[in-house]
Amino acid sequence: MSKCPKCSQFVSSATLNDVKIGNWNGVSYSCPFCFSVLSIAIDPVALKSDTISGVHDELVSVHQKLDAIQSYVAQIAQHLARK
Ligand SMILES: [Zn+2]
Repeated sequence: MSKCPKCSQFVSSATLNDVKIGNWNGVSYSCPFCFSVLSIAIDPVALKSDTISGVHDELVSVHQKLDAIQSYVAQIAQHLARK
C-alpha cells in the first residue's frame, strides 16, 4: 500500500478536488489524513464532455453557415431564373 510522502500514513483512498489547469478542468488527489496534494491531472470525465460540447458547438456553427450559403444560392438562382 502507498504511503503519503508528507505524513507517512498509508493511503488507500484520496480526496478529490476540482482545479483549473490553464483552460482545462482538472482534479487534485489529496491525502485524506493531512490533505497534502499527491497528484494533479486533467479531469478525464470533464475532458470528454468538454470535447463533445466543443465539437457540437462547431457543428452547429457549420450548419448555420451552410444554411446561410444555401439561402444565398437560392436567391441567386431565383434572380437568374427571372432573367
Ligand atoms: Zn498525508
